[in-house]
Amino acid sequence: MKKIITVVGARPQFIKAATLSRQFQLLGIEELIIHTGQHFDANMSNVFFEEMEIPKPAYQLDIHGLSHGAMTGRMLEGIETVLLKEKPDAVMIYGDTNSTLAGALAASKLHIPVIHVEAGLRSYNMKMPEEINRILTDRISNVLFCPTDTAINNLKREGYENMPVKIIKNGDVMQDAALYYAAKAEEKSEILKQNNLDNFVLATVHRQENTDSIDNLSNIVAGLNEINKEIPVVVPIHPRTRQILSKNNIVPEFKLIDPVGYFDMIMLLKSCFLAITDSGGVQKEAFFFQKHCITLREQTEWVELVENGFNILVGSDKQKLMSAFNYFKTKKSNFDINLYGNGKAAEIAAKEIMSL
Ligand code: UDP
Repeated sequence: MKKIITVVGARPQFIKAATLSRQFQLLGIEELIIHTGQHFDANMSNVFFEEMEIPKPAYQLDIHGLSHGAMTGRMLEGIETVLLKEKPDAVMIYGDTNSTLAGALAASKLHIPVIHVEAGLRSYNMKMPEEINRILTDRISNVLFCPTDTAINNLKREGYENMPVKIIKNGDVMQDAALYYAAKAEEKSEILKQNNLDNFVLATVHRQENTDSIDNLSNIVAGLNEINKEIPVVVPIHPRTRQILSKNNIVPEFKLIDPVGYFDMIMLLKSCFLAITDSGGVQKEAFFFQKHCITLREQTEWVELVENGFNILVGSDKQKLMSAFNYFKTKKSNFDINLYGNGKAAEIAAKEIMSL
């Protein structure tokens, strides 16, 4: 394998791709990054490239703020142009965003092998744009790196065993990132001091099913307001959520802060009492840092967290949120169980890629 093109565009992808970029450098694999522009603010994009020392993107497509179809279509066109010029040996894509699907589609139509990291995940909720992206991306990828046994089983159930595709369980690259950057975060992050944080609940809300429904968002904010009376709630707020809150006069009584970089996020996760989130990544990161998590969704791709009692799904139901919170107030869990590998997921993937 000589030349890889990596397609990223959204915050979680920068974190995932950082782990592979480091391995590619160690193994001497040439990597060029296309940044689609899906996330573009300094605190949603640049900070991750700087902190995680991700190589500067060779191509910036600057595509954002459009509807799903328009965004994916423009990305497809932009990525295709780069692939035709660069002629890479493979295209790497991560997770489940429009950038993931556009990268997979552009490459597969040009018969360039597609390598999908974080493959096989399913929420079984086709209303989620991410679920559509996951299913389509897996189907047109050539190599599927799966983080969990559940992911492997999902693919088997869909008949992937009989398809000409390589399926490898490598573990979770986000676990690699959490382990690798935790010490740097301790050293560099000032977030706890800056915000005078001691005992607090960390919450994030940005998923379309919550932000696009005023009822759901109002219920969630009402629940967090209630929890905030007992223990301070801190929310690094996604720009889209902030906009919708203010447009609809939904008033949080808890602390809103701007989106934070990865080092700050690690320190918030390490120090919080509990996480409340509709993010995919934060559910796992809560577990990496031995925290319980309440998930503001009806389903999760990370079912092993629910099965093992670390995570409770509450959707946007305020009563369920309150009872999960009350339950976790006194619950003690042993987090000493290996669900996501041993921090070597990127190394395993990179070595496999070398041998392709
Ligand atoms: N994250 C961050 N700063 C924030 C909020 C989230 O660094 O202010 C990180 C978080 O720790 C996780 C990733 O961004 O690693 C998750 O991204 P997001 O929740 O946007 O997407 P999802 O995982 O739901 O796809």
